[in-house]
Amino acid sequence: MKYYDKLIFELSRPGRKGYELPADKFETDGLKEIPADLLRSESLDLPEVSELDVVRHYTNLSNKNFGVDTGFYPLGSCTMKYNPKINEELCTLPEFTSLHPLQNPNSAQGALEVYYNLQRALSSLAGLEEFTLNPYAGAHGELTGLMVMRQYHKMRGDHKRTKVIVPDSAHGTNPASAMVAGLDVVVVKSRPNGSIDIEDLKPLLDDSIAGIMMTNPNTLGMFETEIVEIAKLVHEAGGLLYYDGANLNPLLGKVRPGDMGFDIMHINLHKTFSTPHGGGGPGSGPVGVAKHLVEYLPNPRVKKSEDGHFYVDFGKDSLGSVSTFFGNFGVMMRAYAYILTLGKENIRNVGPMATLNANYIKESLKDDYLLPIEGVCKHEFVFDGLKDKSTGVTTLNVAKRLLDYGFHAPTIYFPLLFHESMMIEPTETESLETLDEFIEVMHKVAKEARETPEEVINAPLTTLVRKLDETSAAKNPILNYKDLKNQA
Ligand SMILES: *Cc1c(COP(=O)(O)O)cnc(C)c1O
Repeated sequence: MKYYDKLIFELSRPGRKGYELPADKFETDGLKEIPADLLRSESLDLPEVSELDVVRHYTNLSNKNFGVDTGFYPLGSCTMKYNPKINEELCTLPEFTSLHPLQNPNSAQGALEVYYNLQRALSSLAGLEEFTLNPYAGAHGELTGLMVMRQYHKMRGDHKRTKVIVPDSAHGTNPASAMVAGLDVVVVKSRPNGSIDIEDLKPLLDDSIAGIMMTNPNTLGMFETEIVEIAKLVHEAGGLLYYDGANLNPLLGKVRPGDMGFDIMHINLHKTFSTPHGGGGPGSGPVGVAKHLVEYLPNPRVKKSEDGHFYVDFGKDSLGSVSTFFGNFGVMMRAYAYILTLGKENIRNVGPMATLNANYIKESLKDDYLLPIEGVCKHEFVFDGLKDKSTGVTTLNVAKRLLDYGFHAPTIYFPLLFHESMMIEPTETESLETLDEFIEVMHKVAKEARETPEEVINAPLTTLVRKLDETSAAKNPILNYKDLKNQA
């Protein structure tokens, strides 16, 4: 593969064009309407190219990317499942894309109906009373949910509850969101299998506790079997339970956080509900709450009157607003289409299939990779690197070598509970053949690590760029083609 293709600026030739506009409309009439002081005196330095040049430019760029549409992407805690193309078709219908957020709700009944129905669908999947779709991402949902928690204690005049309990195995966004919400983080230790140690939890439960944040299945993909007991203890102490539902996939339609005793949760529509994600967005992190917290949800809220009319409401006890308007509508449309496509019955197959796929990979690879926690996992699991570490091959090396074989790497060095964490989540949408290919390659890499370790340590060998210095790549990214060319 070439290091770079000729980029669009290099192809530019004066006067070359890929379009034709009626001169009278745009070069005379149109310009009259723009105030003179806003007009450019010189034209922009844009590439002058043909339509074919543009098509090749973007097609070549897209081919350099790796995505769910190009290959297996077992990135743990990220749920890189297939994003059905019908979702894209529906969310780009002009009836939705041409709406304006300030338009009169009476003229946007269809969009509000989608919005309302999605709130209802999520409520029934979560076992919670009501949802807001306003937050833009999982972490934003966490912040919103914790603001609901704070508002609840505030409205009861219970001002001394300023702490939130977070397990040491939690996703990094949990303690970060708690800090942003103005709560102090108290860490509760987890047992070797990642579940919460009740004996460690008990002494923390006093009247300064606002609540606890948990993930179930936990970060190691194991179900927290004592959750009902934990919920009872936290409630008795006057706290609320927050459920990080970013990884709801294994429980979808089977087990409901509300039934486990959780009061507040967020869901990542861009993970469980199959909307494209990665590279920073767009996302959606709806927040659901139990009955006693509904009035604290953020404004605006979308409601339905008894005669079937949809309207926008602003609650007076609301914690305020967390987004401009209603959130990322396009993401919601995709999630709604996904839920309707699967339907009530099929949605219950998602979790078991995701769980089966994860366990199949785990059991097939544990002779070569170190499995710190035995037992049935849910949608994902963690290896602590290679079983045989004598040749010095690390998790990072294995991850890079996988790229040579056309697979995306798993999540590595998270969770922090192990030194060589490798978190694998295959999702339910992969076929047995794909899983088998991945397993074969993982065995092959383990064999290379024993017999020809240099090959793994120096990987990737066949990708467009070799092993990057990840710190400089993040701190001094090459953002223009001239620098890229100088490097080549
Ligand atoms: C992905 C994830 C988050 C954060 O979601 P974002 O949309 O990336 O902000 C939070 N918790 C867990 C467990 C996650 O996997």
